[in-house]
Amino acid sequence: MASGSPYFDDLRSKPEVIDPPQNEDMMDIRETVDHPIQNELKPNVAVSSSVRELLECPVCLNAMYPPIHQCSNGHTLCSGCKPRVHNRCPTCRHELGNIRCLALEKVAASLELPCKYHTYGCIGIYPYYSKVKHESQCVYRPYSCPYAGSECSVVGDIPYLVAHLKDDHKVDMHSGSTFNHRYVKSNPQEVENATWMLTVFSCFGQYFCLHFEAFQLGMAPVYIAFLRFMGDDNDAKNYSYSLEVGGNGRKMVWQGVPRSIRDSHRKVRDSFDGLIIQRNMALFFSGGDRKELKLRVTGRIWKEQ
Ligand SMILES: [Zn+2]
Ligand SMILES: [Zn+2]
Ligand SMILES: [Zn+2]
Ligand SMILES: [Zn+2]
Repeated sequence: MASGSPYFDDLRSKPEVIDPPQNEDMMDIRETVDHPIQNELKPNVAVSSSVRELLECPVCLNAMYPPIHQCSNGHTLCSGCKPRVHNRCPTCRHELGNIRCLALEKVAASLELPCKYHTYGCIGIYPYYSKVKHESQCVYRPYSCPYAGSECSVVGDIPYLVAHLKDDHKVDMHSGSTFNHRYVKSNPQEVENATWMLTVFSCFGQYFCLHFEAFQLGMAPVYIAFLRFMGDDNDAKNYSYSLEVGGNGRKMVWQGVPRSIRDSHRKVRDSFDGLIIQRNMALFFSGGDRKELKLRVTGRIWKEQ
């Protein structure tokens, strides 16, 4: 069966990385996140590349933030690596001691650098010590691939990810704001944390991911369907959606707000922000002899005024 068909596939899901780690060691961060210095690239930006090299930790190669340490010979080291080198300078092997490199910390404070997402369109220039914080919230930062159940590390802007979902994950693409899907599983006893599927809808000039999956809640298998918005949270709030599932004279309706794909698939699922169907209910909806799961899910997406 092709994985793009609107039926269940049994695929194993693996834990996904929820958010990239952020630098928690920053000190003295000025709040310039919402007010970037958007002037022309200053000459000091070009000159600073050699200074930036000085600010690279020789062990982990990350940018160093206060407190920056140095050995008695002047070799520098970041505070994250210091506890791991057993009091030996990794460059000259001398005893490290507890010397702070205030001069380099001050040089760093004088730097202003472009946001690392400038190639994605961000024109902000930030003081060294607030750049990392800005980048963690920059609206131009690329999105992670919204495909669930695999360890996909692809990142990019929305048009790139839409093409990637279609070409590499063979995800079903639909245009229009209403949908009618049938999920069939021949053996509903086999509910693992692993059965799920994704369909992408395009409407209102935006893209939405409809997730449908089975997972184990304590001892009980349940099904969940929810919508994610391919864009930022602020824009996601402009939309609403409804999902309806039923059969056999029974019906459940869910109305919700799509969640931004900035929130991981797992985070949305674990907060139950969607249509949740207990297995017994799902079998009622399926009718028949309760041996096969046949769910018809209809839905609609609309833009709030
Ligand atoms: Zn380091
Ligand atoms: Zn040294
Ligand atoms: Zn930025
Ligand atoms: Zn992917």
